Amino acid sequence: MCAAIAAARHGAKVAIIHDRPMFGGNASSEVRMWPMGAKGRDLRETGLFEEIILTNMHRNPTRAYGIWDSVLFEKVKMQEGVTSLLNCSVFDAETKGGKILSVTGWQTTTYQHHRVEADIFIDCSGDSILAELCGAEYRMGREAREEFDESAAPAVADRKTMGNSCLIQVRETPVSIPYTPPKWARSIPDEDVMSTRPHLPDQFRDNNFWWMELGGEEDTIEDAEEIRDKLLALSFGVWDHIKNQGDHNADKWELDWAGFLPGKRESRRYVGDHILCQKEVQAGGKFHDIIAYGGWQIDDHPPAGFDHRGEPTTYYRCPCFGIPYRCLYSKNIENLMFAGRNISVTHVAMAASRVMATCALLGQAAGTAAAIAMEKGILPRDILDHIHLLQKTLMGDDAYLPEHKRTVSQLCQKASLEGESAEIENLRNGVDRPTAEGENLASVPAGSDITYRLAEESFVTQARIIFDSDLNRDTVKGGIQEVRDCPTLCNRPLDLKPYTFPATMVQSFEVLADGEVIFREDDNHQRLVKIPVARKIRTLTLRPLSTYGEEKARIFSFDFE
Ligand SMILES: Cc1cc2nc3c(=O)[nH]c(=O)nc-3n(C[C@H](O)[C@H](O)[C@H](O)COP(=O)(O)OP(=O)(O)OC[C@H]3O[C@@H](n4cnc5c(N)ncnc54)[C@H](O)[C@@H]3O)c2cc1C
Repeated sequence: MCAAIAAARHGAKVAIIHDRPMFGGNASSEVRMWPMGAKGRDLRETGLFEEIILTNMHRNPTRAYGIWDSVLFEKVKMQEGVTSLLNCSVFDAETKGGKILSVTGWQTTTYQHHRVEADIFIDCSGDSILAELCGAEYRMGREAREEFDESAAPAVADRKTMGNSCLIQVRETPVSIPYTPPKWARSIPDEDVMSTRPHLPDQFRDNNFWWMELGGEEDTIEDAEEIRDKLLALSFGVWDHIKNQGDHNADKWELDWAGFLPGKRESRRYVGDHILCQKEVQAGGKFHDIIAYGGWQIDDHPPAGFDHRGEPTTYYRCPCFGIPYRCLYSKNIENLMFAGRNISVTHVAMAASRVMATCALLGQAAGTAAAIAMEKGILPRDILDHIHLLQKTLMGDDAYLPEHKRTVSQLCQKASLEGESAEIENLRNGVDRPTAEGENLASVPAGSDITYRLAEESFVTQARIIFDSDLNRDTVKGGIQEVRDCPTLCNRPLDLKPYTFPATMVQSFEVLADGEVIFREDDNHQRLVKIPVARKIRTLTLRPLSTYGEEKARIFSFDFE
């Protein structure tokens, strides 16, 4: 999604082919996993990811899956420049001389083949489906420890992966509800087997059943159907255990939904010009061609999944780490790019980079790079010669690159700046979030003006604003507080209260050119706002009028070019 949207916003003509009826992959209501990202204060992923999340927060106070699906649907469907082919599964590719010419998919709703020709293809299928179709180099399974000197890797390389999961969703009810499992449900009479899996209401009310996992010792692609059958037996067996085996205090909880589409954690990973590994991730990933970052821990599940006796995952700490552009394009197929869990990483590094907010940043980077390559008539690899342009474009679109500053135009820097804040200069310091160096924002009273005065009348193309969306969600109240970071709720207690929107956000504001209002928004719910100015002016003013609760308007950036 993020690759398609980013490429289209930068002028490329895009077709997105997806084999499901809705967008979102593992985040959609068909699978129901929660997009997570970098851990730690002020590290939340911005750019397209935050745009999607803020739209959802604005429209979805109880974090219902149906509303979330509609947000994802419209982000793609309403995006100018994107043609979407849903329910369409790619099964063929035409190649010539190390290049893909076209891909073909079968659409199950129209019974039609769709053949799509393109200059650049971005495979975000998770399974790297183009790898076998076009001969791109890929890996599957775990590297041997010595290959990349990875302490978390097994001594000997194998084909094992993390497993698949079919999730369930449960809800609290006012009365006791009995549960009769199907005869084919897996029998789990033994409490010991479940002891390391959080399955009591106090544990699952603010969590989900991610640990119901199988298939990592098989082939998560070729054996996917058999694995799904075992997963379904496990899902209904786990709920039977909770309801009927011993006292779990779950009488007033019922099974609300059971997923029949397994979420896949791991399968094929493409090989790019660089393979990111554990040591680099744990060293913070300092790369000249950084285009995204991760920061979830290395979260490596045992291949046996639920059948592993012991903890369902092993965590290895890692800091916020940069991911290089060289992991996003194929080593040997010159017009093939990728984003998501299938990028060029080792199994261990993938255990950190696989979370969805990181995948979204990778998608935005790949789509933006593809659009730049198209515009320049060059191949994805050649973007390395224009890496500063890619980084600048990403940061301009509010994608954060740790330790990097956005370049603010000379025109903006030379203008005088006035506003009722001692920190007014933060608005053009090129940093759009709090960092170790400071808060990087200016707070001004609602209704007051922030004004740039240019020495002489000059042509201004656009103004760019970054409001404070409360990256740590400190001001979001209601719901289940422990999971207020998640765009959806899996399990629902009876006393659920609607979530509020971040109180720090500016709700209504005006932008004025030479004292004339050129833009007004009364229902703002976005952090990044770009406003076309396209005229010669002497003054440019931002007038925040109201917020979602805070007394002052909190603004990270207001600059122009
Ligand atoms: C059970 C489970 C729990 C997880 N927990 C978390 C979590 O809490 N937080 C988190 O952030 N991440 C979590 N993850 C990891 C995360 O969900 C994945 O790593 C991430 O979704 C990968 O994103 P992606 O876009 O690469 O792939 P996906 O989300 O898998 O999307 C790929 C899409 O491509 C489609 N596709 C595949 N083949 C074709 C084809 N031939 N033609 C057309 N379309 C095709 C698929 O249908 C799918 O929708 C979890 C994963 C699983 C399975």
